[in-house]
Amino acid sequence: MLHLDLMDGHFVPNLTFGPPVVAALAETATVPLDAHLMVTDPDALVPDLAKAGVRRTAVHVETCDHLHRTLARIRDLGMQPGVAINPATSLVLIEDVIEELDFVLIMSVNPGFGGQAFIESSLAKIRRLRQTAGDLDISVDGGVDPHTAGPLVAAGATTLIAGSAIFGETDRARAVAKLRSAARQGNDS
Ligand code: ZN
Repeated sequence: MLHLDLMDGHFVPNLTFGPPVVAALAETATVPLDAHLMVTDPDALVPDLAKAGVRRTAVHVETCDHLHRTLARIRDLGMQPGVAINPATSLVLIEDVIEELDFVLIMSVNPGFGGQAFIESSLAKIRRLRQTAGDLDISVDGGVDPHTAGPLVAAGATTLIAGSAIFGETDRARAVAKLRSAARQGNDS
């Protein structure tokens, strides 16, 4: 999947792009689009993302006053709903919506910037979530590289989202292969 970080300059300090850029990307993308809404008003963006053909959309639990309703809306519009959760936010806050989710997006850095160091306590959080989440997809965003990929998968992560570890390398195919091989080792451990 191609993971898209939508930032509004309010929920996070940076400003990236919105639904029109996503729609333009959707016209040429050859893999499914995965939208991560780091914005204070995710509900306002959801219909346009669905129209663009986005497959998965994650909203931050920290931004939703009516999380259950937002997730239902994402599903009604034909997308797979997910909840993103910051490093300092407790898993307790998503317990009661776990049945409504296709995935949980664990932030292993504070959202808003690329290239940050991985927060180690994320591993324990993933392990705890895996114990209660059955076979739900656990995606991890932030600090994913060939060193963290194995431990993340061993802890229970099933989708790894990498930015700098791929786009910071000149040979991107090789960077992806390295991540895959590290993830496989985590799976075998
Ligand atoms: Zn993201």
